[in-house]
Amino acid sequence: MSTLQARVAKLERLIEIGRTLNSTLNLRPLLNRIVQAAQELSQSEACSILLLDRRSGQLRFEAATDLPGVRFITVPLEGSIAGWVVQTGEPLVVPDVRSDPRFYRLADEQSGTRTRSVLAVPLIARDNVIGVLEAINKRGGAEFSTEDLELLGVLGNQAAVAVQNALLFLQSDWVAEIVHEVRTPLASIIAYAELMQRPDVTPAQSRQFADVILHEAERLNEMTSDFLDLTRLESGRAHLARDPVDMGTVIRMAVNVLKPQVETRQIGLSVEIPASLPHVLGDAHRLHQVMLNLINNAAKYCRPGDQVRVTVGGELGYLTVSVSDTGPGIPAEALPHMFERFYRVAAVEGQAIGSGLGLAIARQIVEAHGGTISVTSEAGHGTTFKVMLPLDAT
Ligand code: ADP
Repeated sequence: MSTLQARVAKLERLIEIGRTLNSTLNLRPLLNRIVQAAQELSQSEACSILLLDRRSGQLRFEAATDLPGVRFITVPLEGSIAGWVVQTGEPLVVPDVRSDPRFYRLADEQSGTRTRSVLAVPLIARDNVIGVLEAINKRGGAEFSTEDLELLGVLGNQAAVAVQNALLFLQSDWVAEIVHEVRTPLASIIAYAELMQRPDVTPAQSRQFADVILHEAERLNEMTSDFLDLTRLESGRAHLARDPVDMGTVIRMAVNVLKPQVETRQIGLSVEIPASLPHVLGDAHRLHQVMLNLINNAAKYCRPGDQVRVTVGGELGYLTVSVSDTGPGIPAEALPHMFERFYRVAAVEGQAIGSGLGLAIARQIVEAHGGTISVTSEAGHGTTFKVMLPLDAT
């Protein structure tokens, strides 16, 4: 193929990619598409996207191809190539990072990558730099060319608009959902408060109405903190630590917190943790939150006399934690929706207080650790939630 033909082919491919980028408002798949396209166009060994968190003033890896260890890593604006690109709004090619003082070595160390050369372009949407698209190590040991720079620049422009739209959509979608969810408990609170003001209300009725108001207000309270938590996780603003974590300790701590309420409800709780466990890499506090949610749910939706069992095992580079119960189970048609925000199973919900956000939050946390969460259940016979977390490879 002549150079001209090759160039036309690449430009045509670029137009095609641009079209597919604009066809989704779903942030995670969009970011993955962008890095894949960037890798294809730049013929590099790996590509990544870092988005700017304006509050912390740091950049964060949000998606990458062939760089499994890079999730979680934050990069400062000062003393990094990506930071330089964000601050100047200019693209940059660094043929040899060893001789460039801007190169941020820690990211290589933390992710187990060996960067030789970098091609980085800013993601600019409506005159704001929202992040950086980076390609590292041109395949075959070659250097990044002016043509690579141009192609990635055009891709970066298209990508920035699509990412900005997805971020805005995430926000607008949320606002509508939140308002909708908050309305129901608020309407009950107003209705019951009005009833309490009626002259013919008896003291017994008054107490009963106050109970409903309290119950609904507690629900609202729980919802508001969950809203915040989930938005931070979804938008990547929640900072997750990246430490070696002993899941045995994390599970025991969650069990200790929940033991009193499990015992009061006469539910059996057993925990089986092998004596020595390999570490996972992540945020102990967040993983504690996941375990609390799963065990709490199992206890919350079980009936007196039911059993909850927490077991830990290993599978092909993953640590698995299963939380099983002999509770009411979940109908098959509800299973695909369990990790969606606000989803609650009407039949099981009963009197249990909840926002319907716990499992959505748990999924965000587990996936941010590179893991998976799944559920199996048989209506009437109990439920098992299984979390798989990659083992610490360092
Ligand atoms: P919440 O408990 O706040 O409602 P979650 O997102 O934690 O929200 O759970 C969503 C729904 O899934 C619950 O409302 C309940 O209907 C169902 N659920 C969760 N765990 C279990 C379980 N162990 N057994 C039966 N149903 C469950």
